[in-house]
Amino acid sequence: MRTTFMCRVLAVVAASIVLLASVPTRAAPNATGDAGRVRFLALYKELVETNTTLSAGDCTLAARRMEAHLKAAGYVAPDLRIFVPEGHPKEGGLLAVLHGTDPNAKAILMLAHIDVVEARREDWTRDPFKLVEEGGYYYGRGTSDMKVQAAAWVDNLIRYREEGFRPKRSIKLALTCGEETNGAVNGAEWLVKHQRDAVDAAFALTEGMDAELDAQGKRIAMHVLAAEKVSQNYTFEVTNRGGHSSRPVPDNAIYHLVRAVERVSHYEFPVQLIDANRGYLLGMSTIIGGEKGAAMAAVAHNPEDAVALAVVDRDPNLHAMLRTTCVATMLSAGHATNALPQRARANINCRIFPGVTPEAVLGELVRLAGDPAVSMSISEVRGPVAQPAPLTPQILGPIETVTRELWPGVPVIAGLEPGASDAQFMNPAGIPTYGISGMFVDPDNGNIHGLNERIRVRSVYEGRTFLYRLVKLYANE
Ligand SMILES: [Zn+2]
Repeated sequence: MRTTFMCRVLAVVAASIVLLASVPTRAAPNATGDAGRVRFLALYKELVETNTTLSAGDCTLAARRMEAHLKAAGYVAPDLRIFVPEGHPKEGGLLAVLHGTDPNAKAILMLAHIDVVEARREDWTRDPFKLVEEGGYYYGRGTSDMKVQAAAWVDNLIRYREEGFRPKRSIKLALTCGEETNGAVNGAEWLVKHQRDAVDAAFALTEGMDAELDAQGKRIAMHVLAAEKVSQNYTFEVTNRGGHSSRPVPDNAIYHLVRAVERVSHYEFPVQLIDANRGYLLGMSTIIGGEKGAAMAAVAHNPEDAVALAVVDRDPNLHAMLRTTCVATMLSAGHATNALPQRARANINCRIFPGVTPEAVLGELVRLAGDPAVSMSISEVRGPVAQPAPLTPQILGPIETVTRELWPGVPVIAGLEPGASDAQFMNPAGIPTYGISGMFVDPDNGNIHGLNERIRVRSVYEGRTFLYRLVKLYANE
C-alpha cells in the first residue's frame, strides 16, 4: 500500500464523495470528522502508490512522504526522523514520538512494516500500485498487508497532536522495511539492535490476525495475535558408496531417507497450550458450535482428550496452532537411472512452537529417524526463539472496550499465528508485541501476498476509528 500523488486533490474529493455515501453511520467519524477522513485517504493512497517492493521499490521514499505529513502536523526532529540502515539506501524507515506527561510510564509503540510483497502488473487485473476503489473494496498491493495500518498509525499521531491530546505514556511510531522478504534488512530487528531507545516500549502493536467476517460480510470476531511460530528448515541427508542397479543391496541411500521421512510424517509433536491458542479454542468454540466447537472447548481444558483432539486436528489451521509441525517440502536423490543412489537429501520445514528451540526439534527428529545413516542438520536460523507475550488484562481490556463500543456483541478472541511477523524480533528483545489491526477481512483474507489484494472500504474506516481509540486508551493507562 504505497502510492504516488497523481491528481491527488481531485481523486481525494471524488473518492470522499463515494465514501460518504458508502460508509454506514455506525462507523461515523469521530474527532476530526470528514475532513480528517479525506486526509487519511490521501495519506493511505500515497503510501499504497509508493512502490516498496524489494526489487523495484523504495521504503525510504515512502517513509519520507509520511514524514512530510507529520512535519505538517507539527512534529520536528529529533521527535521525527528517518533512519536508513548502512548500505541499504532504499530500505529506510520512519521514527516519531508524541511525548507523554508521566516520566514513569513506559511508552507504547505503533509498529508497521511499509514494504510489500512483489506484484507484477501483467499478473494483476488492476495496477497493483494504484489505489483503486471498486465494488466496496480498495484494491492494490499493501491495501491490507499492511499499509492500511501504517497509514492509520501516522493518522493517529496527526490527530492526537491536532487535538492537543496529552497522553500519560509516550506514543511511539516505527515504520520499517524488510518484513516481507527473506534476506532483506529487517527494519524492526535493525532498530532493536541499533536504536533500541527509539522503539523501547512497555509493549508494541503491529499486524497480526485481522478481525473476521463470514462469507456474508457479517462480523464474527475481533482477533488479537498473542503468539506466533518460527519457520525453520532442516536437511536430512544420506550418502552411500552406490553401485550397479542390477545388484541391489539393502543399504540404499534412498531407502534410508524415505524411511526417516516416513517416520516424520506419522509423528505428532505434543500439544502445547498457552494463552494465545487456548484463548482461541475457547473463544471460537461457541461461535463454531456443534461437534467441532465442543471438541475445541474440550481440548482447551484437557489437551490429553484424544477423542476431542482428533476432531480438532481435522482442521489444518487448528492443528498447526496447537504444536510444532514438520513437513517434507523438497526431495532430491540419485545420479543415474541405472545406478544405486550415492546421495539422497530432503528438506524438512518445521514451524516451531513459541519458546521451543531449533536444537530441541532437531533432537526430536534424530530420535524419530533412529538411523545413524541419516545425517540431520539445521539449515539456517531465521530468527531468535519466539517467546509468547502474556495476554494480560492490561492488554485485553482496552481491546474489549473499544470493540464493545464499535461493534456490540462481537467477541474478542486471542490467537496463535502459524506464520510469522516482526513480533519474532520484538518479543525476544523484551518488547511484548501484539498483532491487532481492527480491520475486518473476508474469509479469503483479502488475498494478501497474492493477486488483486483488497480490503473492504468499510473495514478501512472502521479500523481507523478502532486503532485511534485503542491507542488513546492504552496511552492513558
Ligand atoms: Zn505484513
